[in-house]
Amino acid sequence: NFDVNADGIDLFQAASVLMLSVFICLFHATLRNNMHFFVKFQREGMTIQAERLNFHRYISHFRSVHRGSSFAKMRTTTVRKLLPESWGFLCPVHTPDGEPCGLLNHMTSICRISSCYNSEGAIKDFQKIKDKLLVELVRGGMIPLLPKMEHTGPPEVLHVHLDGCIVGSIASAKIEEVVNYLRRLKLLAHPATPEDLEVGYVPLSLGGAYPGLYLFTSPARFVRPVKNLVSLPDGETRIELIGPFEQAFMEIRCPDGGDGGRKKEFPATHEEIHPTAILSVVANLTPWSDHNQSPRNMYQCQMAKQTMGFCGQALKYRTDVKAFHLQTPQSPIVRTATYKKYHMDEFPSGTNAIVAVLSYTGYDMEDAMILNKSAVDRGMFRGDIFQTECIDLSAKRTENVPEIFAKSPLSRDTDNVIDSDGLPRVGETVVPYEQYYSIYNTLTGAIRPVRLKGTEPAAIDYVALNGTNSKGSLQKVNIRLRRKRNPIIGDKFSSRHGQKGVCSQLWPDIDMPFSANTGMRPDLIINPHAFPSRMTIAMLIESIAAKAGSVHGKFIDATPFASSVKEDGENRCKYDSIVDELGPMLASYGFNHHGTEVLYSGLFGTELQFEIFIGPVYYQRLRHMVSDKFQVRTTGRIDQVTKQPIGGRKHGGGIRFGEMERDALLAHGASYLLHDRLHTCSDYHVADVCSLCGSLLSATVIKSDTQKKSKRHLLGVNTVRPAKNFTCQACQTNKGMETVAMPYVFRYLAAELAAMNIKLDLRLSNRREAPPSNESC
Ligand SMILES: [Zn+2]
Repeated sequence: NFDVNADGIDLFQAASVLMLSVFICLFHATLRNNMHFFVKFQREGMTIQAERLNFHRYISHFRSVHRGSSFAKMRTTTVRKLLPESWGFLCPVHTPDGEPCGLLNHMTSICRISSCYNSEGAIKDFQKIKDKLLVELVRGGMIPLLPKMEHTGPPEVLHVHLDGCIVGSIASAKIEEVVNYLRRLKLLAHPATPEDLEVGYVPLSLGGAYPGLYLFTSPARFVRPVKNLVSLPDGETRIELIGPFEQAFMEIRCPDGGDGGRKKEFPATHEEIHPTAILSVVANLTPWSDHNQSPRNMYQCQMAKQTMGFCGQALKYRTDVKAFHLQTPQSPIVRTATYKKYHMDEFPSGTNAIVAVLSYTGYDMEDAMILNKSAVDRGMFRGDIFQTECIDLSAKRTENVPEIFAKSPLSRDTDNVIDSDGLPRVGETVVPYEQYYSIYNTLTGAIRPVRLKGTEPAAIDYVALNGTNSKGSLQKVNIRLRRKRNPIIGDKFSSRHGQKGVCSQLWPDIDMPFSANTGMRPDLIINPHAFPSRMTIAMLIESIAAKAGSVHGKFIDATPFASSVKEDGENRCKYDSIVDELGPMLASYGFNHHGTEVLYSGLFGTELQFEIFIGPVYYQRLRHMVSDKFQVRTTGRIDQVTKQPIGGRKHGGGIRFGEMERDALLAHGASYLLHDRLHTCSDYHVADVCSLCGSLLSATVIKSDTQKKSKRHLLGVNTVRPAKNFTCQACQTNKGMETVAMPYVFRYLAAELAAMNIKLDLRLSNRREAPPSNESC
């Protein structure tokens, strides 16, 4: 909605509106109506909160790219596809499955965004860069657009575009020379060519993109480093930053020593730095992801972001609204090269659990897993949830009556929790509905104690004093509560290979199988059926590698594609397969070459018939826990309109008993239970129906009766409650009145239909006369 006056477009006004909308958008994450021109479709979700659940999640939020929520509703799949120009810029693995698949992407670990700052940190002078670049282009043979307009186009000459503007033209025969000249200047760090300059040369072709030389210097573009194979005078190969536009027209080979099946006319000019460069930060941390089926790697990327771990180093002083914390995390024995690069040991998120792949009793069927209770008692997977309550007295105040934190000097019963300043004592445990802080109104002198909400006891972990008013009295505090989340049946765990499972049993040490040689008992038992269809071979390799690593006392490198990288024409890896390398490591300590061991049953003490695959695997504890999810209800709040139980765990509601559940009960023949669930325990209602006219709504209480009742009420004689007498308003008689039990929503439906002028006609089995056919509907 730009104003076009006599002078032209009021650009200043337009720019200021745009700036304002960007600010509003950043602060409120929404757009107002008058900003349609800015983002036409999307009005919310412009910003996402950087959650600190763990470091994986935190860092992914800074490297994620979303196409926009309007694309999620599109039926076509083209927008979700990973196109050639995004190779190396967007990770093919790190995208969620389901609705946002391919729309929410993550930048690869090496991908960067070009910015207004140069490598020294100084602000770039774009006009200066452009001027210098134009000088170099003219030196290379470009005919400038000004002062004389060239009227020829392809195929004789190709136009040169700089940041979207045509600046000149170059003869077709000369253009490749110019491109090479510019790339050379770029490698030599010439002031005319910034390191993130994109030299997009679209050659003449039949039916391809419009040919020309497209140069970009602007900020906010994807760039990534590749090796330039052209050797400079000093004989060194240099790293060059390339962009998505030029990449599609470049010859970049993989670092496997081959040429990727190229023809001799098009030799490779560039080379990828490492195959793992196409993976995102999180996908790069999956050990040997090249040995897994690809969806499993995608699942791992999602699960790594839901893992409990160390969310921050200054947790002691942090007051996050909700923070998950794992008490005794470990550093993985098997890790990729990037693990160290990203300092993941600062934010560990799992435990090296001894995992036996074994069908032991029936409690590990269908992705359930048996946990060693004794290991849990020793501290494995133990964790807490920290929740912070922010209490701001100055915000709540309606009039000019200051409130302060204070304790009643009279009551002694809260002494163990509330300290003399009205705030809770750090370290004390508060049970539900117990007072834990109190507020004193300075005007009325009333003391208002506040009780703990919820159904779970909590420990007072930290009390942070945040601010005072003008008189210096405390107004704002943060109280951090700690709730235990030790592993219990129903909690979720996962390895780093998309193998998630739920704890089904916590068994003590003595009931777990034990090794014949070492006497070790597994921390965790998973079912062998988890492997054949999912093909997470890397998890098996990880188990062998971690075993070899732990007996030799060293970490094992699990960088994917390591064996396919050739350095100086030779394979970095001496062995044909990883197992050939790890097997002798195990054998040197007397273990089986393939990681299996003889186990004895913990229940019978007899030798298990087969050798069992057992070894350490890094397991993550996911944040989905039963204690936060279980739902139970006997009676409670009901919906005011339908008289049915409300939904939602927070409000003490029920779980929907849907059609599929109904079908299951019907199939079992449990129809009385069905009646009990859907009627008696839901919205049981007794309605008065007139069997003469079939109306549900025409019943009215006989007036005289109510008068009598009120008279008796006035006299104070409240003896026996009189039976309510109903009459049909339509038939003007009470002869046909019957009571019928029905769900209340049915009555509601009848009322809604009546509002639309549709009469609902009930035909009771004891109806005296047949209804007139034209009235029923
Ligand atoms: Zn009637």
